[in-house]
Amino acid sequence: MIPVIGYAANQAKAQLTPYTFERRDPKEYDVLIDIKYCGICHTDIHQVNDEWGGSTYPMVPGHEIVGIVSKTGNKVTKYKIGDRVGVGCFVDSCRTCTPCKNELEQYCANGMVTTYNGVEKDGTTTQGGYSSRITVDENYVLKIPDNIPLDKAAPLLCAGITLYSPLKHWQVGPGKKIAIIGLGGLGHMGVKIAHALGAEVTVLSHSLRKLQDGKKMGADHFYATSDHETFEKLQGYFDVIISTVSSDFDLNQFLNLLTLDGTMVQVGLPEKETTMSFASLIGNRRSLAGSLIGGIKETQEMLNFCSKNDIASDIEIIPIQQVGEAYKRILNSDVRYRFVIDMKSLQQ
Ligand code: NAP
Ligand code: ZN
Ligand code: ZN
Repeated sequence: MIPVIGYAANQAKAQLTPYTFERRDPKEYDVLIDIKYCGICHTDIHQVNDEWGGSTYPMVPGHEIVGIVSKTGNKVTKYKIGDRVGVGCFVDSCRTCTPCKNELEQYCANGMVTTYNGVEKDGTTTQGGYSSRITVDENYVLKIPDNIPLDKAAPLLCAGITLYSPLKHWQVGPGKKIAIIGLGGLGHMGVKIAHALGAEVTVLSHSLRKLQDGKKMGADHFYATSDHETFEKLQGYFDVIISTVSSDFDLNQFLNLLTLDGTMVQVGLPEKETTMSFASLIGNRRSLAGSLIGGIKETQEMLNFCSKNDIASDIEIIPIQQVGEAYKRILNSDVRYRFVIDMKSLQQ
């Protein structure tokens, strides 16, 4: 077994503290990765606090993992020692169901094996990327393109793909008007990717505090949702709206901003359920949809797209000892725009 150091929550809502555990030695198709950086996703906070139910402890969060391959199993063909690689939100799936066969492993009918707070096929509890090393099957590992710095690439593994996938699925591109609600980790990646796809991009944020940043990322328009005039002005305007909001919000006032046949895609997963008005849907033949991360093939496509279009995440690097402080700032919408943990700090 391979000794690993990390940070874990020992119970719901607990502060993360140092934790040592073991990973499996690479089996024939596994690679061992020395983790260099790990992004902090708002999902980590939901899970540490058991806001969705089903959390198990000790829990080492982290599913925006980048690092360097340090060992390979004897049948590995995709990666070699020294390669720059990433791991996102899942590390395995059944590989036989229809979604898996269609490279949509995130919708695996038998349940994907999540990178942490999940259970491997051998019964081991998975532990995430706030740690020194991880062993993963090569089929669930991504190649990080050479021109994307590793630290800025980490958030692409969840935030990047979570926005890329619905943007592609709902064919966002030239001539389409798209809004992103919430300029946080997911939202800022959505703005950059939608802009690169050629759409007209609007940010709908609490306030105008992040306006300059949003424009730099490629937003054409920026509105404050605290201003009720925003909802009058933009009535029936958008083809697609993607909501990344992580806490309760009034879904109906945003549905009213969709044009005829427009689609609202929910990717944020607040703790509490929301209510929906059928009248807002019926009025303009609107659709309400959801979307969950992306499959391995699409995640690699997104990384290559980001490489080609010079897209990476705007990050603030922190030592792991400051993870509690970072969680507080994320909850206050004070993240510019993703915290990334430098794993060198684990040795301190
Ligand atoms: P984040 O960095 O905290 O960003 C969320 C943003 O939403 C905030 O920056 C804020 O933006 C806005 N916001 C927060 N509270 C709000 C409120 N009460 N009303 C209006 N706006 C509010 O979080 P994230 O990492 O991007 O994750 C966002 C959500 O997506 C989380 O619930 C997470 O679990 C979920 N998620 C889903 C998937 C998926 O596959 N579907 C994948 C990853 C994460 P402004 O300051 O601009 O208003
Ligand atoms: Zn995530
Ligand atoms: Zn499956």
